Amino acid sequence: MTAPDTTRDPHLWEPQRKVDDLEWFRKKYAEERDKRLPNTGADTFQAIDFEGRFADFDADPHAEGPRTTPPQTADLDMLVIGAGFMGISTGIELKKIGVTNFKILDVAADFGGTWYWNRYPGVRCDIESYIYLPYLEETGYVPTERYTRGSEIFAYTQSLCKQFGLYENALFQTRVTEMEWDEDTARWTVRTDGGDVFRARFVSTQSGLFSRPQLPGIPGIEKFAGHSFHTSRWDYDYTGGDTTGNLTGLRDKRVAIIGTGATGIQAIPHLAEHAKSLVVFQRTPSQIAPRENAPTDVDWFESLPAGWQKERRVSFDKCAMDRATADCDVDDGWIKFAKYQLRAIYEAGGMEPTLEQYMDAMERSDYEWNEMLRDRVDAIVKDPAKAEKLKTYYRTMCKRPGFSDDFLPVFNKESVDIVDTSSTPIDRITEKGIVVGDREYEVDLIIYATGFQQGRTWTDKAGYDVLGRNGNRLSKKFAEGASTYHGFLSKDFPNLFFLGFVQSTQVSNISNLIDNQARHMVYMVGKCLKEDIRAIEPTAEAEAGWNAVLAEHAEMRRDWNLTCTPGHYNNEGRVDDKRSTLVGGLYGPGYEYFEMLEKWREDDTFDGIATTR
Ligand code: NAP
Repeated sequence: MTAPDTTRDPHLWEPQRKVDDLEWFRKKYAEERDKRLPNTGADTFQAIDFEGRFADFDADPHAEGPRTTPPQTADLDMLVIGAGFMGISTGIELKKIGVTNFKILDVAADFGGTWYWNRYPGVRCDIESYIYLPYLEETGYVPTERYTRGSEIFAYTQSLCKQFGLYENALFQTRVTEMEWDEDTARWTVRTDGGDVFRARFVSTQSGLFSRPQLPGIPGIEKFAGHSFHTSRWDYDYTGGDTTGNLTGLRDKRVAIIGTGATGIQAIPHLAEHAKSLVVFQRTPSQIAPRENAPTDVDWFESLPAGWQKERRVSFDKCAMDRATADCDVDDGWIKFAKYQLRAIYEAGGMEPTLEQYMDAMERSDYEWNEMLRDRVDAIVKDPAKAEKLKTYYRTMCKRPGFSDDFLPVFNKESVDIVDTSSTPIDRITEKGIVVGDREYEVDLIIYATGFQQGRTWTDKAGYDVLGRNGNRLSKKFAEGASTYHGFLSKDFPNLFFLGFVQSTQVSNISNLIDNQARHMVYMVGKCLKEDIRAIEPTAEAEAGWNAVLAEHAEMRRDWNLTCTPGHYNNEGRVDDKRSTLVGGLYGPGYEYFEMLEKWREDDTFDGIATTR
């Protein structure tokens, strides 16, 4: 199986310079990291109560009005919290095993999760659509492009949910407020802000990786007299246009955007095209590799053999994440980097390199790869001062790599400025604009591309607490970090499933994680229903065992995390704070985790689980 052809610039993807002086790079990267350490971390973000002046930051710009459904009461086999890809996959897998008495709740007014909220101009998935969009083999849907637009993904989720009849199970614009276990009936009682009371035998939760918008804790943020919004609540009434751009409302507007993560780099080209002027406030640059999007080769797509999607997903994870010498079906920037590293390892030590040769080759090839991308910045951005600001000095997987063909050229426009806030942070926001050092940038609009709340406790992020067996509170149990068995179940909280990155594994293609987790959880639910098992929870030994495995993995990753510039992957530089879901999983081989789960299911013994019949 091969990937479709794309048009390539032959000068790209092949580092031209070999790196000899590793020390120079180590020092330079450490200096760049240290510049950011004092002004990053969760402390730079306000825990915003989205009220009063800030109410609009969390308001749903897509809903047609408030919820109109009257309060509901129901006894359910399962309550699924969250209608993103995880909730959708869970619903589909439940229906496949004949379970229909379930509800899927979400704060949003439709299915889609991330793709419901994020409708900023330029929004696209940076993972190949063929491995990202779930259930492509079942639906027969052919993605139009290799990297699909957000609007196409959102439309696909809607048609997927219609096809599998999930709308009849959905309750939108509803937030869970509390959840309590009743030992006598072995049911969860779940209450919502819509006055609903559900009694559910099983509950699945995910506090959503990218669910709560995050605003930077910049002094004076509430004083700004112009307009402002977060990228996940884009205000097209103000900017004009839609997700494809055409932001005609900005023709006479001076615009500022804070943040140059994956969202910023997709939205900025559209702002630059339409705004009267644009100032980009950047703390850490994103690595920008070529995008190489292309229309889907339909003949190729339709010729793929049964079972291709799973195979392609596994191959991507093995190659991209684990440097496994597998055949790589996908041929994109993630894989090209992995292959470059594999080649360097082979050159250093053949098929059986020593650990030292392996580590040396990984480091050296990473510097070479980044030299290539820094050269690319110089080749595209004409002003050397601007170009320098856009170059990344951190190891590739310290932050999520970015891919774009239209981001860097933006900085050749006279109307676009870039302000580096890595060593001189934004000092304050005033009525008129943004102050850095002794300069005030006066603007009409401030857009926050500042991401989503991460490094807080599980219950903080979820927005509700859980009262488990014998009065145990989840906020207490998870206060210093989650504690589960395989990432799914936690002792004293029976029949409650935790999904997502909580103590599971790390993958770049989150769709693959979701698919595996939904199938695994639904297997457990199905077995309980079939065998009339009232309640399941891990044994204390099994949970402790999993925590011990994860602690070992955290130790293996610690040195790497310490060398990285702050970001999600190292909990914004706080590597020993275990509350962050992203640093808590297995280090490396995602597919080994999935294979472990598969083997556990095949055994069919519920190993490590205490059951109540
Ligand atoms: P993000 O990755 O968290 O980026 C937030 C940005 O805001 C960073 O550039 C950050 O700088 C900056 N920032 C925060 N506070 C700041 C301050 N006080 N001053 C200056 N800059 C500040 O958020 P995101 O770009 O919205 O992405 C969120 C997640 O969604 C990411 O994991 C991303 O990969 C994913 N995503 C995926 C796609 C896709 O195609 N699949 C598209 C968009 C987003 P620092 O880097 O210095 O912290």
